Amino acid sequence: MSGPRSTGPMTKGLRMIENVYRFAYEDIEGAVIRVSDDEELSLHEFLGAEHRTDELADYAFAYTCCYVRHRSRNILIDGGFDPDTVPGALDAFDVTPEEIELVLITHADRDHVAGLLRADGSFTYPNAQHVIGFDLWDNLRRPETLDGLAQLGEERQAFFRKLVRAFDNQLLLAKTEESVADGIHYVPAPGHRIGHGVYEIQTSGRPLLHTGDAFFHPVFAEHPDWPNITDSIPDQAVESRKLLVARAADTRALVLSAHIPFPGIGQIERDGRAYRWVEGL
Ligand SMILES: [Zn+2]
Repeated sequence: MSGPRSTGPMTKGLRMIENVYRFAYEDIEGAVIRVSDDEELSLHEFLGAEHRTDELADYAFAYTCCYVRHRSRNILIDGGFDPDTVPGALDAFDVTPEEIELVLITHADRDHVAGLLRADGSFTYPNAQHVIGFDLWDNLRRPETLDGLAQLGEERQAFFRKLVRAFDNQLLLAKTEESVADGIHYVPAPGHRIGHGVYEIQTSGRPLLHTGDAFFHPVFAEHPDWPNITDSIPDQAVESRKLLVARAADTRALVLSAHIPFPGIGQIERDGRAYRWVEGL
């Protein structure tokens, strides 16, 4: 592949909009896959009152996950809302669900993990090693957590129970920053959720850093100290975001993020003591 490009409209399991952004970067190739229509949201839902302005208002909140081909392995970062959309997009790479070797999970919200199980409870990617943060999983599988999820409604509670049943003893649990596969680091970035974690993929040059839900919009990359008031633990998320943004700038990483405007790819540059989000490869 010679450079970044978008595929044409996909037909299988996806609507006729641009849903897959293919890219080549250093010695990896990959794709950002839109797993649901964008949502028109206001940044005011995420920003504290002191940071809300007219300029920082409406934007297209995307829902994505990421496919990467790295050192001859097929890897997914998160799995989307349903078990059909991502496999449909992988068709463009001639990759079947059985050929996915690694699924790197940032956290267990539905838009990131519901697609990892089929309706009958079996694995969408049956041969994959699934990786998730220890703290997240340890918290989620506690009976009191599952009981507490009743506030989200019975359907959501039932989903998380199904998830725990399916995945218990099937996950590689990452506790601290550590290598979870050849050339892939799990990086704890808690706060958005308990035990939220992200992944850094090493290349022959600069790394790729997928930041999960560490920031919902480039403004949070440029102002990592601004709390996202919808994070589960906003103060902790700020500390994680500061570390991630500094890391991305220092390593000149390619940064991908699940919900910033599609395709959600960019780099973070230091600008004196400030940071600047630069969209694109
Ligand atoms: Zn999310």
